[in-house]
Amino acid sequence: MARDYYEVLGVSRSADGEELKRAYRRLARKYHPDVNKEAGAEETFKEINRAYEVLSDSQARAQYDRFGEAGVSGAAGAGGFATDFGDMGGFADIFETFFGGFGGGMGTQTTRRRPGPTRGDDLRYDLRLEFREAIFGGEKEIKLTHLETCQTCKGTGAKPGTKPVTCSTCNGVGQVRRSTRTPFGSFTQLSSCPTCGGSGMIIEDRCESCGGQGQSQINKKLKITIPAGVDTGTRLRVSSEGDAGQRGGPSGDLYVYLFVEEDAEFKRDGNNILSTLKISYLQAILGCRLMVSTVDGEEELTIPPGTQPGTVLTLESHGVPRVGNPVARGDHLITVNVDIPTKVSNEERELLEKLAKIRGDRLGKGGLENFLGGLFGG
Ligand SMILES: [Zn+2]
Ligand SMILES: [Zn+2]
Repeated sequence: MARDYYEVLGVSRSADGEELKRAYRRLARKYHPDVNKEAGAEETFKEINRAYEVLSDSQARAQYDRFGEAGVSGAAGAGGFATDFGDMGGFADIFETFFGGFGGGMGTQTTRRRPGPTRGDDLRYDLRLEFREAIFGGEKEIKLTHLETCQTCKGTGAKPGTKPVTCSTCNGVGQVRRSTRTPFGSFTQLSSCPTCGGSGMIIEDRCESCGGQGQSQINKKLKITIPAGVDTGTRLRVSSEGDAGQRGGPSGDLYVYLFVEEDAEFKRDGNNILSTLKISYLQAILGCRLMVSTVDGEEELTIPPGTQPGTVLTLESHGVPRVGNPVARGDHLITVNVDIPTKVSNEERELLEKLAKIRGDRLGKGGLENFLGGLFGG
């Protein structure tokens, strides 16, 4: 029995879209098979994708809430995505709706006299991006393998100069009828013709280039434009770069799934970038101006006098650009940590004791002596 989708993503049943997205991204990063080689990670990754795919689609989610898995697995079969990405499952999409252009369809097959053009399969490509590549976008070259229509036979699968002939088993219909007698009556079942595999045509002289398939696997290099501001879980659609269609059908699309690497210095929270900064207790008390690193390079940050540990200071518009509107950027949020020295020199100690006296801070009898003595190791 599959786990509850909400449980899989670790969110409550009332989680909104943003919460789902955040939970999904966190888990997808953790369990992506490229990074996580532990046993079972891939299974978990698929589970996460499936859960997100359903819960991020409000209609599917409503079905799931009412009927559980049974409510959505049926829909999956009818929509056809179970076959599109093999068993990898789909992702929700911020650029376009997933089930836009699936032609053909299973429902029409039984009434069709001969299989017509079929749209090629959509393909999935997982692309890893460095932290900064995701922020600023750019061009990436990828290598993929997809089916292209055979140039020798123009997709017919027949040797040039010959033509496929009508299948004699099914007379070109592509289907055969089988009657089965049962205690409840006699049923006629339609099934795909075993001789021609449902195409209604037989190729007597196969094209040598493609072995009669009409298509062949081609390795291809492709330049992908990565928009600024993308994140793990973003899916890009590259039109018509999936597998070629059959019998003149259109090509499928290529879906590029992005996975963004972590950065040692910066973290991302939506369109904001987070980092920490260590300052001395004197800088915290007196205030100062420091150069801090941002994704745009060094920037001056003003630390006001009396800054408390854990204060978050903002460098506006040094965050992540919004996808589709890169001039609008998030902020860079800097959490200030105050460094309390574990060792002080004799001179500093004297000054500090003087300060303590001025402020009237009680140190206890011999307290500071002993404490500092301890720090110096006696
Ligand atoms: Zn061919
Ligand atoms: Zn046939």
